[in-house]
Amino acid sequence: MFKNGDSPWNKNKSGLSNRKQPKKSAFTKGYTPWNKGTEVSWNTAKTNTTYERMESNEYDLVVKPRMDGILLTTPDCEGNSRPMCILRPKKTPTVDLKTEIKNNSFDGMSIVDNEKLITMMNSAVHLHAIKSEPCGPPSFAYYNIQKWGVCLKFQVYCERCQFITPMYKLYKTIPSEKPGPDPAAANVGFALGIQETAIGNTRAQQLLSNMNCQPPSRSSMQRTSNKVSDKLVELNQDDMADKLEIVKAVNRKRGAPENEINLTVDVRYSSNTITSKKKPGQNANQACAVGIETVTDRKYIVATASLNQMCWTGAWLRGKGFTIECPNGHEECTADLHRAAPLSEYELGKKIGNQLAVQGILVKYATTDGDGRTANGINDAIQALHPMWKVERLADPIHLGNGQFRAAMRANFSDSMFGCRTKEQKKIIQKLFSQDIKARSSLITSHLMEVYGRDIQKISEDLPKAFEATMSRNMKGRLAATVHRSNNSPGKSTKMKCDRLGIELSGRTNAFLDSTDRECAYQKEYQKREEVQHRKLSQKAENLVVHKTFKELNKANICDVYKKGQLDPVLDDHASCVKKRL
Ligand SMILES: [Zn+2]
Ligand SMILES: [Zn+2]
Repeated sequence: MFKNGDSPWNKNKSGLSNRKQPKKSAFTKGYTPWNKGTEVSWNTAKTNTTYERMESNEYDLVVKPRMDGILLTTPDCEGNSRPMCILRPKKTPTVDLKTEIKNNSFDGMSIVDNEKLITMMNSAVHLHAIKSEPCGPPSFAYYNIQKWGVCLKFQVYCERCQFITPMYKLYKTIPSEKPGPDPAAANVGFALGIQETAIGNTRAQQLLSNMNCQPPSRSSMQRTSNKVSDKLVELNQDDMADKLEIVKAVNRKRGAPENEINLTVDVRYSSNTITSKKKPGQNANQACAVGIETVTDRKYIVATASLNQMCWTGAWLRGKGFTIECPNGHEECTADLHRAAPLSEYELGKKIGNQLAVQGILVKYATTDGDGRTANGINDAIQALHPMWKVERLADPIHLGNGQFRAAMRANFSDSMFGCRTKEQKKIIQKLFSQDIKARSSLITSHLMEVYGRDIQKISEDLPKAFEATMSRNMKGRLAATVHRSNNSPGKSTKMKCDRLGIELSGRTNAFLDSTDRECAYQKEYQKREEVQHRKLSQKAENLVVHKTFKELNKANICDVYKKGQLDPVLDDHASCVKKRL
């Protein structure tokens, strides 16, 4: 607003130009535009967008469901979605993962009996010579190969005159009373071998296929291993009775009452930890106990007992909607304990006590760890037959000493467990024993997980087929095999097992088994030598010194060493923080 006395800003400034400043964007002569010569292109981000229809398995890799579970995203490392245009996936043909494909090609390695092979060669040439029209020397090729477990039947023909030989079995059989073809010795031996080692049927198949041998089908392997397992349990029962006779004889010679023994008992579970975050109740679902006599220095295992919650036939039937309970709910039940019932060391002790009481044995002192009431179980079982008898419990000093570690290492054996004189041997046996049940349960489940893409429904559908032989039933067989091996030397044990199963071992195999026994005996003797023990002690001391000095020298970077949970926040601090805030 104009006020009186104000002078306008342009007063006395005549001659100011009326023209506006020239526009900056105006064209000046000689100017080259910035984009001269450049080619016009679209935004690169947009050109990358392709409309691709992927296969469904590739689509599953690229696209992730969003948190709300309805929409889909294609996140980068930060979790941001880029503007991608993805079409719905193509349908892939469903692949049948269940049935094993029949393979009848003629190449690869095969396991054949040497004698039978030479018989086949002679017979084929002979038959060709007398039966066909004059043909000269035969030119044989494979006509048919039939698989029989790991063994094979062969049929060859002459390429020139088309003469076909009969089918030759290239394996030895075990004569049996049962209807159907006699079992092949090698198949039974293979099943025995699997139960003696820490691998299962699936890994054994892998082992064979790595050698380019065609592995037997799973179903036939399982049938055989069921039979072998039963026989092994029988054999071990007889063998443990024999060992008790040895103990009795020792007692007689000492002038002691022959049927009184001292026993050490320990229980092993199918899981390392007794509680689990994922499963209600106990984590382990199988347990086995071994009773070891301490009368003789040999420390024979004279009784075994096992508890098993698992019955896959039962689980399968329940899944199909039948209301049955295990045990005693159906035929061929493998469980001897309800699946929700806790594994009880008292029950295991009772089983061991019963076994011994039936054979007229009385347990004077039972040494156990402080975990369970095994000794009470043995006591109650024996008192049922001999009401005046009392079993005393001794605490195992090794277990007491290990009290600190017991929570985590519950499944550990005490030193006297397997009665092996050398540490090496004990290590091997203990390792095998512990790996057996544990390894196979996780192994089979993880394999099933792979095959079925973590679809629990499908897994449970297939469980009876896959598990029956390898887990539940064979648990007893495996326990028996291991106990038998530790009661006898490894080579002798194998011979006895083969003998019981009707497998005839060749002279060379027998010689090998003898040599393993000799090696075993030599190791025992060697480890007992005074100079060896002295050397081992001094090595131990040296190790301690080296370890200590190294630790002191490297105090600075101690945090580089593995330490469980060292980066996790400490729980106690958190608790006190919460308290303060409250
Ligand atoms: Zn011919
Ligand atoms: Zn059952």
